[in-house]
Amino acid sequence: MTDTQPTEAAATLITGIGQVIAFHYDLYDDASVQVESSAGHPPVQFLYGQAGVLSALQEAFLGKSKGDDFSISIPSGLAYGRYYPERVQRVLKKNMDNGAKQRFRIGQIVHINQDGQRQAATIVKVGKFNLDIDTNHPMAGKDLTFDVKIEGVRQASKDELAHGHAHGPGGHQH
Ligand SMILES: [Zn+2]
Repeated sequence: MTDTQPTEAAATLITGIGQVIAFHYDLYDDASVQVESSAGHPPVQFLYGQAGVLSALQEAFLGKSKGDDFSISIPSGLAYGRYYPERVQRVLKKNMDNGAKQRFRIGQIVHINQDGQRQAATIVKVGKFNLDIDTNHPMAGKDLTFDVKIEGVRQASKDELAHGHAHGPGGHQH
């Protein structure tokens, strides 16, 4: 019986490349305000090394196993970068898509064309004719703390390795 133990442990130990990791998380900013949570959703899945998942968070999984939970604080420089005040700009409402008809509100995400690229911006102030919008990432300048529970570890499929991302619930759907 005891000789099955190491095999099971090896199968769930997170070593990185070639593995898909599923986890639940609560995310807090530096004021201890919860800004995101996967509660009520399927666990988030990622292929180790996958773009779009913070490297510092991915590295924190190494050496851990299914069932483990941990907390990690990631300084803004390793998360979404510093906050640039000059990225707040004033635009005319009527120049926005559907601007004449829309009822804008603070916190709303809009898209603008800037230097030929479509970019997301958060509305930070609504005036009569103008909007102040902020193109910083919503979590720019924030130190983040993730409370993580590891729900699963498995080997990636050939398709996942070829695509560079995890498939299935909590991962890519296609
Ligand atoms: Zn794919």
